[in-house]
Amino acid sequence: MAEMKCIGILTSGGDAPGMNAAIRAVTRAAIYNGIEVKGIYRGYRGLLTGEIVPFKTNNVSNIIQQGGTILKTARCLEFLNPEGRQKAYGNIQKEGIDALVVIGGDGSLTGARIFAQEYNFPIVGLPGTIDNDLYGTDTTIGYDTALNTIMQAVDKIRDTATSHERLFFIEVMGRDAGFLALNGAIASGAEAAIIPEIWTEVDQLEELIKHGFRKSKNSSIVLVAESEITGGAMGMAERVKKEYPEYDVRVTILGHLQRGGSPTAIDRILASRMGAAAIDALMEDQRNVMIGIQNDNIVYVPFSKAIKNDKPINRDLLNTLRILSI
Ligand code: ADP
Repeated sequence: MAEMKCIGILTSGGDAPGMNAAIRAVTRAAIYNGIEVKGIYRGYRGLLTGEIVPFKTNNVSNIIQQGGTILKTARCLEFLNPEGRQKAYGNIQKEGIDALVVIGGDGSLTGARIFAQEYNFPIVGLPGTIDNDLYGTDTTIGYDTALNTIMQAVDKIRDTATSHERLFFIEVMGRDAGFLALNGAIASGAEAAIIPEIWTEVDQLEELIKHGFRKSKNSSIVLVAESEITGGAMGMAERVKKEYPEYDVRVTILGHLQRGGSPTAIDRILASRMGAAAIDALMEDQRNVMIGIQNDNIVYVPFSKAIKNDKPINRDLLNTLRILSI
């Protein structure tokens, strides 16, 4: 590969707390190694429209503690077409960018993979998503913060719930992945989690009613992963009303508050390590890889694996939740 003088950095897709810590780490590690940095605003859209500015160390001062992303994020349909990506490549050449660091989820890394192959262009990805649904990394940037937000919200709901004999369905994000629901349920002492991964194996609602929800409890809290497969918390509540009308059901959808807030120490450290590792990877001539973490070690995961393979849920956790909710 020719000498790498300048890298571009962008955040894309759903935002996640800790993205700023990652932007800071990538920028500073690059500058430390004598590489120029350009910040690309609004994800792939900024590549197409040329919303690109030079980044110095002070562009990333005082952001490690901020949620969201200072580079903004967007969804860009034009990048799905070869013509759109050609425009993006034109701007990359114009700006003298030799490699890209893309921070985002599944969709953003899919776009990165296609673009990298089409133009034989070096790209390293960082897993930035609260959903934790990328294969090859134990956790993703933003996941721990979202989990803590869910835990705090459920604690509050439990306070009001304890005086009623009610069944509460609390819907959490996850986009067809049950990590937030399952670990959120364990962390908040909920009775059960309804997750898409095991949807076809058991009727989780039936199981819950049979074994989990007891009249002797003041209230029951069940975390439900948002998903078309499960029908989400509303879908569950409708089924209970029809099939088990003796229960008093309530629904809370936590929604976008799960994406906000100052990142936890775990997310800041993860993002800092991964950001610095992205520059190491590019200097080692790696391309088309996502930075991951496995057993506290940084690893390089080929885009193809990170995107295509389904990340398995740890089934021991389901059992733990079941045991602890008796
Ligand atoms: P996330 O990265 O959070 O999964 P999205 O799925 O919305 O978010 O993807 C973010 C952006 O990545 C899209 O708006 C699009 O610009 C780009 N992208 C996603 N999938 C593809 C694809 N198959 N080809 C090219 N670009 C894609």
